[in-house]
Amino acid sequence: MTNLPAQHAAARTEPFAFRCAACSRCCHHKIIQTNPYEIAQLAALKGVTARAFRERWTEGGAGTALARTEADVCVFLGEQGCTVHPARPLVCRLYPLGRRRAGDGTEHWLQLDPHPLSGGTFGGDGTIADYVEAQQAQPFIAAADAYAEWVNAARDVLGQLPDGDAGGAAVFELLDLDAAIAAHCAQAGVAEPGEPAKRLDMHIALLYAELNKLNQQE
Ligand code: SF4
Repeated sequence: MTNLPAQHAAARTEPFAFRCAACSRCCHHKIIQTNPYEIAQLAALKGVTARAFRERWTEGGAGTALARTEADVCVFLGEQGCTVHPARPLVCRLYPLGRRRAGDGTEHWLQLDPHPLSGGTFGGDGTIADYVEAQQAQPFIAAADAYAEWVNAARDVLGQLPDGDAGGAAVFELLDLDAAIAAHCAQAGVAEPGEPAKRLDMHIALLYAELNKLNQQE
């Protein structure tokens, strides 16, 4: 087992390795949080719109966590394991490595306790950076950070709106990455970007533009 302290501002050069045994125990009894980028990736994999995905496969249709079965198991766990593996959310990519980001942008990594019957094994033959790369997690980390920053900014602006103000609803609609980009590009008469990273950049820019608009109305 590695000796990563419970929580600290580790550099990505710190040792960490975990070999997954595909026992799927980590897909039970967990809230799998999702952001608009992750919903867009999952929706594309399932061949549906982000709205359809949200309504069918997220908790209460809110798009902030994956739905779970009555047995409290992720709705995407199949007999052979994760059925959405190529588009799995960040927390699934990193587990049992946890990541927190402080207000100053510092990363905090923590080693989570795997399920007591987990078949996975820790090792000492890699670093946090190696693990992040092997899980192809960096684009998902970039998205999580970008949305977290925007949410902080939005809290200030939306908190000052009067109850029932239409601005809040407009922002909620914009949280659908695919729909927001499609509407913007159609209106601007430009082609939609295809690359996920460019789509993320555009979505974040649209979200900030909406906040600026609301700010100016105050
Ligand atoms: S998305 Fe896949 S890896 Fe993540 S909890 Fe669900 S089944 Fe498990």
